[in-house]
Amino acid sequence: MKRAYNFNAGPAALPQAVLEKANSEWLNINNSGMSVMELSHRSKEYDAIHNKAKTLLKELMGISDEYEVLFLQGGASLQFSMIPMNLLSDHQTAAYVLTGAWSDKAFKEAKKLGKAVVAASTKEDNYTHIPSLDSINYEHDAAYLHITTNNTIYGTEWKEYPETGNVPLVADMSSDILSTVIDVNKFSVIYAGAQKNLGPSGVTVVIIKKDLISDELTHLPTMLQYATHANSNSLYNTPPTLAIYLLSLVLEWAKEQGGVAEIEKINTKKANIIYNVIDESEGFYKGHAQKDSRSHMNITFTLPNDELSKKFLEQAKEEGFVGLNGHRSVGGCRASIYNAVPVEHCEALASFMKKFQEANILVQK
Ligand SMILES: *Cc1c(COP(=O)(O)O)cnc(C)c1O
Repeated sequence: MKRAYNFNAGPAALPQAVLEKANSEWLNINNSGMSVMELSHRSKEYDAIHNKAKTLLKELMGISDEYEVLFLQGGASLQFSMIPMNLLSDHQTAAYVLTGAWSDKAFKEAKKLGKAVVAASTKEDNYTHIPSLDSINYEHDAAYLHITTNNTIYGTEWKEYPETGNVPLVADMSSDILSTVIDVNKFSVIYAGAQKNLGPSGVTVVIIKKDLISDELTHLPTMLQYATHANSNSLYNTPPTLAIYLLSLVLEWAKEQGGVAEIEKINTKKANIIYNVIDESEGFYKGHAQKDSRSHMNITFTLPNDELSKKFLEQAKEEGFVGLNGHRSVGGCRASIYNAVPVEHCEALASFMKKFQEANILVQK
């Protein structure tokens, strides 16, 4: 069987080794005589899987005991609401940096729940870049500053993060968590839907400073309080056991790769392979993102016209490339090259892009 060259934006490629391991344990996990989906979430077999995922994530990201790691449901999108519900009180303001569609959505939810303001925005430039750190404006008593570290749809990423002092920094890392070494201590909350870099959809990781978790928000629905999940090791209700199991396998795989520092090196290499083709194409391929804001996870580009874009996507499909259509709000093409996408698949795409350009350059003139 031939595996696809999968450049989907999310759900996205998973490491083949992870799928093989899951397959080998599908009917009988750890000699339980059951699949992981059939285990009680209160059993010691499941508990071991749950805690392994938590321990591995802490180890890989260097998360200290000052933080709680939660496995929740509702996607990153539910965090857009849970964050203001739990962290934004009536007399405070939350500040948002708008760098793309996902940060816009997060901001909209916050406005429904309290006072939220824009600290900086690059919307006027069609989100082609990240704002400079010194252009970000917020009150020094803000409830928090929210950023989206990688903009999945526009293909931009933050290269350095704001120093926020006493203001908690909250980050949506859905599309770049575990792709590059970060100092978790700079952040008060990090959240990510799993389906880009961590596993399948269905589980959302929230890394939150313990001192931000309040037991006093009893007016909130129980399921929407961080305290509920923190106080029960994310086992207040039935967790997505299959997704958390696959997360544990992805984390094991990440560790076998040599950890995040090694993964970062591979990701840089992968991104360079494709950006080089764009840069050397003499304008045939145009990157959406400005060079200093380019994402190493989502590469967005256009061709000279819509007709060529269409032809490119059709031929790519015939050659086994999947998921190269740009998001409907940007158009053109997008290659999502998350951790699980092998170097060889990026090389295959680069050589297809070069071949396509050579075959079509005359047509263009
Ligand atoms: C995919 C994505 C989301 C949405 O995640 P869901 O789990 O589908 O809610 C939010 N933010 C970013 C940056 C994303 O890439």
